[in-house]
Amino acid sequence: MKEFDFDLFTIGAGSGGVRASRISAGYGAKVGIAENRYLGGTCVNVGCVPKKLFFYASHFREEFENSKGFGWSFDSLDFNWKKLIENKNKEIKRLNDIYKKLLANTGVNIYEGTATLEDEHTVKVNDKKYTAKNILIATGSWPMIPDIPGKEYAISSNEMFYLDKLPKEIVIVGGGYIAVEFAGILHNLGCKVSLVYRGPLFLRGFDNDIRQFLVEEMKKKGVNLLFNTDIQEIAQKETKYICKLKNGNSIETEKVFYATGRLPNTQNLNLEQVGVLQAPNGAIKVNNSFQTSVPNIYAIGDVIDRVKLTPVAIAEAMALAKNLFNNEDSAMDYSAIPTAVFSQPNIGTVGLTEEQAKEKYHDIAIYLNDTKPMKHTLSGSNERALLKLIVDKSTDKVLGFHMIGPDAGEITQGIGVALKCNVTKKQLDSTVGIHPTLAEEIVTMREPSR
Ligand code: FAD
Ligand code: NDP
Repeated sequence: MKEFDFDLFTIGAGSGGVRASRISAGYGAKVGIAENRYLGGTCVNVGCVPKKLFFYASHFREEFENSKGFGWSFDSLDFNWKKLIENKNKEIKRLNDIYKKLLANTGVNIYEGTATLEDEHTVKVNDKKYTAKNILIATGSWPMIPDIPGKEYAISSNEMFYLDKLPKEIVIVGGGYIAVEFAGILHNLGCKVSLVYRGPLFLRGFDNDIRQFLVEEMKKKGVNLLFNTDIQEIAQKETKYICKLKNGNSIETEKVFYATGRLPNTQNLNLEQVGVLQAPNGAIKVNNSFQTSVPNIYAIGDVIDRVKLTPVAIAEAMALAKNLFNNEDSAMDYSAIPTAVFSQPNIGTVGLTEEQAKEKYHDIAIYLNDTKPMKHTLSGSNERALLKLIVDKSTDKVLGFHMIGPDAGEITQGIGVALKCNVTKKQLDSTVGIHPTLAEEIVTMREPSR
C-alpha cells in the first residue's frame, strides 16, 4: 500500500481547520496543517473575538450614561482608542499562542506558509512537498468590495481592527452582520456613523419585526440610516472622501468602510488543475460528507459558503473528523442554528422567521412582547426590547424565537437547546421564570398577538 507523510493535511488553521486537525490527531491520525497568516483564522484575529471586544468597549458609553439614574455622577468621559487596540492585540497574541499549543499538544505538525495543491495527494508549502491520504481545505473567506470607481479608498473589516486612530466620521456600506454591528460599535465610541444599504431594510433574512425594531432603536441612538441607495463613486478630497450616492446626494467623510459580504478564499490553491469543482462565486462544492469532486479532498467552513459562522465551521470539523478517523457516521445538522447580531441592542435568533413559518405551515400563532427592560426604569434610556415566539398551532411546536435586547445572544443560546429538543408552547408555559429578568418573558407570553 502507498505510504503517505500524513493521514490528513489541513490547509488553513482557522476555526474549522484547527478543530478538524486537533480532533483527528486525538483519534490517532498523523496530521499536518499549513497556515499563511494567523493561527486561529478570521474569528480570532479579525472577526468574532476582536469584534466582541470592540463591542464591550463601545457599550461602556451607554452603561456610564445609564448609571447616572442610579446615583452615579462623573465629570467627563475619556476614551483611548490606542489603548483598546493595544490591549486587543495582546489578547489576540495570547490566543494565537494558545492555538499553537493546542495543535502541538495533540501532535499536529504546523507549517507556516501558503499551501498549494500539487495533485490529489500532495500539498506544497514553502517549496516543500507533503503527501497525505486525505486533504482538508479550510481556507475561509475574504472581504468583497464591489468594483466601483474609488474602491481603493475603502477599507474592510480587516483594516478596521488596526486603524491608528478612531475616525470622527465614517460611512459604512452594507446591511449584513458586520455593517450593523460596526455601526453600533463606532457610534457608541463617538464616531458619526452613516450606514448606506442598497435595500429597503437591512439584515435581509432575519425576522421582519426584529429588523424594523432595530431600525427604530438605532435611529433613537442617532445612527444615520440611509436605505434604498448605494455608493456610485468615491472621490478623494484632501484628507477626506466624497461618497457620491445613487440617489443624487453626497456624503463627505473621513473613512469609508465596506461590509458587503465575503467570498470564499481559494486563490493560489490550484483547485482547477487538481479537479476540485467550485460554484460560480468560488465556493468549493461538497457533498453531505464534505467530500469535494476529488474524493479524498474535503472542504469545510466559510470556503464552502453554507453558513458562515464559527460554531458551524467547528461543527462541520467535528463531523468530518469523526467520519474519517473514528468510524462514526456523523452528519452535520444545519437545522435551528442559533445566531446573534452584536448590534446595539443585540439580536438573538433561532428557528424560523415569521415569513418562513408562513410559507411552511398553515396556521401559526405569533407571540410578541415589546417591553422596557427594567434597568431603563431608572437609567433614563428610552431603549426597548422585543421578544417574539412563533408557534405551529396544530402541534404547539415552537418554530422560532427572535429577540432584540440586552444579552440577546446569551438568552438565545438557552432557548436554542429547547428548540433543538422540539419544545412546545405548553412546555414553555409550564416553565417557571427567573425573576426579575428579561428572559422570563419567554415563559410568560400567554396570549398570541396575532
Ligand atoms: P477562517 O477562520 O477564516 O480560517 C481560514 C484560515 O486559512 C485563515 O487563517 C487563512 O489565513 C488560512 N489560509 C487561507 N488560504 C491559505 C493557504 N493557501 N495556505 C495556508 N493558509 C491559508 N462568526 C460567529 O460565529 N460569530 C461572530 O461574532 C462572528 N463575527 C465576525 C466578525 C467579523 C468582522 C468577521 C469577518 C467574521 C465574523 N464571524 C463570526 C465569522 C467567522 O469568523 C467565520 O465564519 C469563521 O472564522 C470561519 O472559519 P473557517 O475555518 O472557515 O475560516
Ligand atoms: P453579509 O452577507 O451578512 O452581508 C452583506 C451585505 O452587503 C448585505 O446587506 C448585502 O445586501 C450587501 N451587499 C452585498 N453585495 C453588495 C454590493 N455589491 N453592493 C452593495 N451592497 C452589497 O456579510 P458581512 O460582510 O456583513 O459578513 C460576512 C459574514 O460573516 C456574515 O454573513 C456572517 O455569516 C459572518 N458574521 C457573523 C457575525 C455574527 O455571528 N455575529 C458577525 C459578523 C460576520 P443584500 O442583503 O441586499 O444582498
